[in-house]
Amino acid sequence: MTQPSSATREVLNQSPPFVDVDLFALDLPLAEAVAANGAAAAREELAEFGRHWGSASMAERGRLANENTPKLRTFDSRGNRRDEVEFHPAYHELMARSARAGLHNSTWTVDGHPAGAPAEVVRAAKFYMAAGVETGHLCPITMTRASVAALAVQPDLLAKAMPVIGTRAYDPAFAPWPAKRGMTLGMGMTEKQGGTDVRSNMTRAERDGDAYRITGHKWFMSAPMCDAFLVLAQAEQGLSCFFMPRFRPDGSVNAIEFQRLKDKLGNRSNASSEVEFFGAYGVRVGEEGKGIRTIIQMVQLTRQDCAIASVGLMRSGLAHALYHARHRSVFQRHLADQPLMRSVLSDMALHVEASIALVMRLCRAFDRAPADPAEAAYMRMLTPAIKYWTCKSAPGFLYEAMECLGGNGYVEEGILARHYRESPVNAIWEGSGNVMCLDVLRALSREAEAATAILQPLARGAAGLPGAASAAAFIEKAFSRPDAEGAARLAVEKLALLAAVAALNAVSPRHAELFAITRLVGNHGAMYGAVDLAHDDIGRLLDRALPL
Ligand SMILES: Cc1cc2nc3c(=O)[nH]c(=O)nc-3n(C[C@H](O)[C@H](O)[C@H](O)COP(=O)(O)OP(=O)(O)OC[C@H]3O[C@@H](n4cnc5c(N)ncnc54)[C@H](O)[C@@H]3O)c2cc1C
Repeated sequence: MTQPSSATREVLNQSPPFVDVDLFALDLPLAEAVAANGAAAAREELAEFGRHWGSASMAERGRLANENTPKLRTFDSRGNRRDEVEFHPAYHELMARSARAGLHNSTWTVDGHPAGAPAEVVRAAKFYMAAGVETGHLCPITMTRASVAALAVQPDLLAKAMPVIGTRAYDPAFAPWPAKRGMTLGMGMTEKQGGTDVRSNMTRAERDGDAYRITGHKWFMSAPMCDAFLVLAQAEQGLSCFFMPRFRPDGSVNAIEFQRLKDKLGNRSNASSEVEFFGAYGVRVGEEGKGIRTIIQMVQLTRQDCAIASVGLMRSGLAHALYHARHRSVFQRHLADQPLMRSVLSDMALHVEASIALVMRLCRAFDRAPADPAEAAYMRMLTPAIKYWTCKSAPGFLYEAMECLGGNGYVEEGILARHYRESPVNAIWEGSGNVMCLDVLRALSREAEAATAILQPLARGAAGLPGAASAAAFIEKAFSRPDAEGAARLAVEKLALLAAVAALNAVSPRHAELFAITRLVGNHGAMYGAVDLAHDDIGRLLDRALPL
């Protein structure tokens, strides 16, 4: 038998894996955005998190959790219903690590009040780094954190739940939540006939003593092994919000039956179920008929996390692309030294610089909103605009990052194919693109004064930068048009871009100027790299993006 020649076994000119790196130390735009938004003191805590999540073992857990997807065990071997979902051990490890870092609760005090600055910024920095390693498991993590905002309208329930939500333990046991070391919560709103239009929910809730019996279905209910769900159902007074645990108070399994798991494009490590309720036990959260007002408190926070995760995915794509380009040679020259590749990578780095500055600015608003009306207005008006822009830009960005790795980017062994498949979901769930634009319009029409109060500081924050004044004037005019709805994407995108310029100006004025020139003055082309940046600016952007 002929032995293969050693030439085919020797691997040349491939980039080493981008693992065992410090995700915080290698990300200067992140560190600067964190510091500019009040969390400079968390540097060491974030560096420790960055080293841990940048390790080869965490990357391997991400791979395993996505290759070994969750399985629904509807029945046991004797035909009894089980309604359990089995996950690979790697998924449980990711959950445990995120819980240990407080990603599910660190923005709350032990009794469920906002923890105060800079808790949001610190958690967001961790969430962003974790998202670049494995995003699917963050679904129950984000829903658990967000659920506290809705539970706050039901103080008796919040008081019982906080001691369990408030621990940093992850307890995957299928057991009643009050006896567990830690718990996770999900949410059920979307039904077959409507996801955006939750008013069309057909699931019914009938009073049963102090509790309710809930009958109906949900077409999407993610993370079905959560210990409880906040569910919308029609009660006598209208659509209402309910806390529906997996076990009834007497310890029996609640009447929650999973029909099947969705076969999804991405988000594979996370399970998303179709589910039916057969008189399931639930307790009301908030007043009857006020279900949307109650659950929107939770949704506002999940929208914030969609934006953070999208930027985390893009950052990871950029880091992998740049790292590869510094190791891979084509025509005797590293890709990272080829002028056209440098244009592509630096334009992508500029996009990420602006995006991270923007989401950290948003998190600062979340931190300060309880005590500062201007920050509360920023949070309300800009959360949908920022979710819209960051989430919508992620798939195109990740596609470009993938291409920087050539064929290796397209295969599943690398992380970029997974990131690419993952990225569209953040725009679709928790309010899809058009819905976010309509939300901005609604908020502006309801609070005309707040709108001015938002636009003025944004214009001030971006004052003197190219295109900022005309962008502010355009936005004001566009939103006051009687037919504003049809052009809302244009106006909301401009609003997000102006907010990004202002946020970046507080972190890195030179880069804010470049971003303004390319995005406000120039109409940024559909492709990254179709800009004309100066040689020095390109070098600085690439050095900051990955100081290796
Ligand atoms: C992986 C995954 C997991 C999910 N997990 C959950 C979960 O845990 N819990 C849960 O409740 N839901 C969940 N969802 C459902 C998700 O929130 C909905 O799919 C989403 O809200 C959109 O609802 P829909 O699918 O009914 O689409 P529709 O509401 O029919 O919307 C379709 C399109 O129309 C647009 N649109 C809607 N209204 C307007 C309008 N007035 N003008 C212009 N355009 C409009 C939307 O932007 C969207 O692009 C999940 C979805 C996915 C993909």
